[in-house]
Formats: sequence, structure tokens, C-alpha cells
Amino acid sequence: MAKQIVILGAGYAGLLCALEARKRLSGIDAQITLVNKHTYHQLITQLHETAAGARSDRSIRISIQNVIRDKNIEFKKGIVQQIVPADKNVVLDDGTTLPYDYLVVALGSEAEYFGITGLKDHAFILKSVNQARLIRAHIESCFARYPYEKKSELLRFVVGGAGFSGIELVGELADALPNYAKDAGVDMSLVELYNVEAAPGILPGFDEELVQRARTSLEERGVKFMTGMPIVEVAPGVVHLKNGQSIATQTVVWTGGVRGNQLVINAGFETEPRGRAKVNEFLQSTNYSDVYILGDCSFVLGNEGRPFPPTAQLAWQMGSAAGKYLYHDIKGGTKVPFNANIMGSLASLGRKDAVGKVLQSYKMYGKMAYVAKEASQIRYLAKIGAMFAAR
Ligand SMILES: Cc1cc2nc3c(=O)[nH]c(=O)nc-3n(C[C@H](O)[C@H](O)[C@H](O)COP(=O)(O)OP(=O)(O)OC[C@H]3O[C@@H](n4cnc5c(N)ncnc54)[C@H](O)[C@@H]3O)c2cc1C
Repeated sequence: MAKQIVILGAGYAGLLCALEARKRLSGIDAQITLVNKHTYHQLITQLHETAAGARSDRSIRISIQNVIRDKNIEFKKGIVQQIVPADKNVVLDDGTTLPYDYLVVALGSEAEYFGITGLKDHAFILKSVNQARLIRAHIESCFARYPYEKKSELLRFVVGGAGFSGIELVGELADALPNYAKDAGVDMSLVELYNVEAAPGILPGFDEELVQRARTSLEERGVKFMTGMPIVEVAPGVVHLKNGQSIATQTVVWTGGVRGNQLVINAGFETEPRGRAKVNEFLQSTNYSDVYILGDCSFVLGNEGRPFPPTAQLAWQMGSAAGKYLYHDIKGGTKVPFNANIMGSLASLGRKDAVGKVLQSYKMYGKMAYVAKEASQIRYLAKIGAMFAAR
């Protein structure tokens, strides 16, 4: 009888896992069900562009049906409510219970607020297409309101966090805000863009020379960095900092940290303190070997004993690997331990600039780096067969 494979989450990890497993396993071997809360796959790596208004939200939503068409993968739109590994089933919001022989959990991450007062209630986060749309609409409304209300906090924008996604958002806003100002007839000299970060520097893990280039590029476009400066409270219209300073603002976007998906903790999978599941060398939960846990909701150590940062690149490599492991579980053969091949990492700094390393050590910056980053996006779309599948 066909084994039941249930895959939770059609993000980078889950979608790649479904495609790889189906490439190797026939319908007689396995029935594959892919569950996702939306009917589309989100290009989360482009969210900052949509939030700033540089890219339409349609172009970063990929129809899941179009990607899996003719692939004998069943798609179920639903929100996972509970994972019950002891009973080998999953409960969805419509009450459906999905039994499984093998489960893949690829539900992504959640924002980490570090217990900062008011942050969850008064800051935007950037983790979905809908949140990106909300940020864009809010920025537009700030500029639309300013000529009537003349409140300076409408033109002051604060991004909390100077990691990868925070810096990418700041770069995009640095390019976009002058256009918003021009369209609204607002003097750009009144607009302020802050990046506030608790750590001493920006872009942790990046080469110091590239960090400096990024900082200079953004400062030249008006970004005000406040590093080594923890946010202690966010209240309506104001951000309070640890040194006693406050920033009056109507717009705070929090990108300062992620943690594992709460469903993973609730299910009883072994997790580390940030709620990411511990997995073995084959990406199986350390306490349930019939469950693979992938992408941002898992915790994988690299060769140097340090955890890999949560990236789309890592997520889709885990997805592909898990697809192969499922084949071996069902058809036999030897599994090769997971080994991430992180070829590099490029952070965009707006429409014309980026910094990072490619081919493991080759440093890139400027327009060339930006083009390389765009090319990696196109390669990804080609890989999932979605060059023309945006909805
Ligand atoms: C602004 C920004 C820029 C980034 N830029 C880069 C970059 O340039 N390069 C890079 O490598 N990484 C980048 N990242 C990180 C990268 O996007 C993540 O590491 C990656 O998305 C993780 O993939 P995943 O498959 O684990 O989760 P996701 O891609 O988040 O997918 C999880 C899926 O699960 C679904 N889901 C969640 N909860 C439920 C539920 N309860 N029920 C049903 N479905 C559910 C979601 O809708 C989603 O489809 C960026 C992140 C951000 C926010």
C-alpha cells in the first residue's frame, strides 16, 4: 500500500521536498499531501522589495497549483493547528485530521520579540506577502497624511534589527522614500530613516570590508544607524531606547530576530531555547524518526559546530535532501548525511547595490553583486519550474 507522506508548509523547504520526493517515488510508492495556509508559495527573500513598493505582491506569490500541476501531489489549503506525533497525525483548522506514515514539518519561523515591551503590539513584521502589503500601504498613508497633519513622526521610519532582512529593507526604503516624498509633494529633507540595532555592528557574519561598504552605501543615501542601541519599549508613536533617548515615529518594522514555529514546540519535538527543532544528520526529529523538520523551524549545526543561519538557500537544500531521504525510507538504500553547500550570501542594498560573497569566498559589491543576487532568484524560479507561475 502507498505510504502517506504529509508535508506541512509550502515554503522553500516544503515545496522542494515535495518536488524531490515525487521525482523519485511513484504514486504506488507514496501519496504526497502538501499543506499550506495560502494557495501560493511566497518568495520571502523578496518581501522587503514589496514592503517598500519596488515590486508588486503578485510577482512574489507563486501559485502552488501551477508548480505541482501534473506531479501527482495533493495540495490541501489549511492552517495546521496541531501536530500529534504520538498518534502520527496532524489536525487542520477545518477539523480535518491527516494521518501520516512520514511527516515533514517545514512551517518556517516566527518573529522573536525578546520580551521587549510593546514591540509585538506596535511594530510591523516582515514575514509574509500580506505583511509586506500592509507596510507598503502604511508608508503610503504616512506620506498622504503629512500635508494635512504636519506631524514629523509620520515622516520618520524605524527599522529594528540590522541582520540580513533588516538591512535589505533599509536599503530598499532608502531608494523608495524619495519617490514617495516626491509623489506627495513632501520635502525629502524632512524624511528620516533609522536603523536601530542592539549589537555593536550590522550584518553579523559578513566580512568586515563588506559591512563597511554596506554601511557607507546606506549612509550616503541618508540612513541613520544606531548600533549598540537596544530598543527597550515601543508605544504608539514612539520608540524608547536603552540610553534614555526616544524616537517619535508612526512606523516601526521589527526584523530583529526569529524563533522556531510554536507548533513545533507544542508537538513535543526536542527543541533548542529559540524553539527550533533539534534534528539528526538526516534531518529527522531527534525524538521522532518518522518526522523530518526542515528550514527555519529546525536547528542544524555546520562543520565548525556553529548553527547555520536560517536562509532560503539552506531551507531548499534541506527540502531536496529530505525528498531523497523519504525515497530511501520507502524503497531502501543508504542515506547520505545532510551537508549544506552554502555557496555564498548576497544582501541587497536597494535597487542598484548589494554586498556579499559568492563561490564561498569571492567578495562582491555594487551593481555586479545586485545582478548576481537577481540571477540567483531567477535560478530558483527555474528550479521549481515557476518562471511564469506568479499569480
Ligand atoms: C525580508 C527577508 C529577506 C530575506 N532574504 C534572504 C535572502 O536573500 N537569501 C536567503 O537565503 N534567505 C533570505 N531570507 C530568509 C529566508 O526567507 C528564510 O530563511 C526562508 O524563507 C525559510 O524557508 P522555510 O521553508 O523554512 O520557511 P518559509 O519560506 O517561511 O515557509 C513556511 C511556509 O509554511 C506556511 N505556514 C506557516 N505556518 C503555517 C500553518 N500553521 N499552517 C499552514 N501553513 C503554514 C507559510 O505560509 C509558508 O508557506 C530573508 C528573509 C526575509 C524576511
